[in-house]
Amino acid sequence: MDRIGVVGAGTMGRGVAQLFAEHGHEVVLVDVAEHALSSARDEIARNVRFAPLVRPGTPARDPAEVTGRIDFTVEPERLGRVDFLIENVTEDWEVKRPLYGGLDTVCRPGVPFGVNTSAIPITRVAALTGRADRVIGMHFMNPAHLKPTVELIRGHHTSDGTVSRTRSLLDGVGKGHVLVEDSSGFVTNRVAMLTINEAVFLLHEGVSTAADVDRLFKECFGHAMGPLETADLIGLDTVLLSLKVLCDHFGDPKYRPCPLLTRLVDAGLHGRKTGQGFHSYESGERRNG
Ligand code: NAD
Repeated sequence: MDRIGVVGAGTMGRGVAQLFAEHGHEVVLVDVAEHALSSARDEIARNVRFAPLVRPGTPARDPAEVTGRIDFTVEPERLGRVDFLIENVTEDWEVKRPLYGGLDTVCRPGVPFGVNTSAIPITRVAALTGRADRVIGMHFMNPAHLKPTVELIRGHHTSDGTVSRTRSLLDGVGKGHVLVEDSSGFVTNRVAMLTINEAVFLLHEGVSTAADVDRLFKECFGHAMGPLETADLIGLDTVLLSLKVLCDHFGDPKYRPCPLLTRLVDAGLHGRKTGQGFHSYESGERRNG
């Protein structure tokens, strides 16, 4: 069974690590921040423990067995033994760019690199490596261990072999996949980020409240979550960074971030992960939900 390297233990990386460890893979989970790794370990153990209660029908698993398959580490050298790598660091080109040279050196030449990004074109990331044919976009949805489908993105040089290798890896952990061509934001976030940003403008202009914006989408359109709740789940910092990537890539002002979004990020209100965004959260759950 493939050993999986997961880089970045934030909102997404920990979910990706949980997914593969639950399905029996050994995982090396790397972050630069010790506190991200310890909170990832706690969250994964909690998720596994409560899964049968929260999602009836989920098999009961031993949290210690799942976390025991994960090597939580700040040492990227440990990625030398992985068979497949999935990168999930901060959505900032200045963070992703310097990382890939090191990953290319540490990982064996045949190892595919899955890039989990919200908006950065895969071809741009692939150009940082000497293995552009083995670089593929793996846009996991949040929470990564629960959402059924992954958006796969074929970069300019991604080979058919890399696409089929990635598909079989995902099949093995019960994930569906939809393959799209490379473009900033791909399919999902070209649409979702604009929708979220426009919802923030509605709030900014006083047209409606956050609660009512979300209610309208749920009750009128039948969406599982409204756009502002979705932004809180993604992380307002990640939404802002994604809009900046889209704005820069297309040079189109339709992606300009709403000033209210920038203000909330500056104020440290990043959504669910900080307890406050457009809504308030306690232990990750919405207050007055
Ligand atoms: P996050 O801010 O929650 O976590 C990022 C993690 O990367 C942090 O723990 C940070 O310490 C770590 N990191 C930064 N530099 C590093 C380095 N050089 N080496 C190792 N670790 C490093 O971000 P996130 O929400 O998990 O997003 C990660 C990626 O996934 C982004 O590119 C984002 O666009 C994408 N994404 C996010 C979502 C979402 O809903 N949040 C969904 C799909 C894709």
